[in-house]
Amino acid sequence: MSMTVEEALIEVFGGRRGFLSRGPVLLMQRNPTTEVISGRILAYGPISHTPWGVPKPDCPDCRTNLNVQAQVKTGGKVRWACVCGLVSKGPLFKKPSFVEHVDAGWLQDFYWVEYPIPNPAYKVTWGQKGVDGGSKGGALMEGRRKDSMDVKN
Ligand SMILES: [Zn+2]
Repeated sequence: MSMTVEEALIEVFGGRRGFLSRGPVLLMQRNPTTEVISGRILAYGPISHTPWGVPKPDCPDCRTNLNVQAQVKTGGKVRWACVCGLVSKGPLFKKPSFVEHVDAGWLQDFYWVEYPIPNPAYKVTWGQKGVDGGSKGGALMEGRRKDSMDVKN
């Protein structure tokens, strides 16, 4: 019986979801022929929290992803929404091509994520919520501009 390293890693952790969900496990592998080292992250990624185990995109206004939430839509796709009012425009986001779902029943929210993760992981066009075409404007935007000026001063 042969087993891939990925399968062995999953076997070793033997159902300890709690342990694995505390932090990602990085698996580095060296190709014996090419000497090329590749990496994969065994990442916990419940879709409403950290979809597909990939860090959420940064909000361009807040310059962090701390306030960005994934709004789950039909078909397991998401729209990004920041508490400041910016949302992702255009098509919804689905599982990126560099992510693969872990094929183990008890690891349903776990994914193999290529390492290093492409930067940016998501190409997001941000816009004001409820405004078409991603154009910014309105009282909310002016209010936020004032806020960010206050922070700088
Ligand atoms: Zn924001």
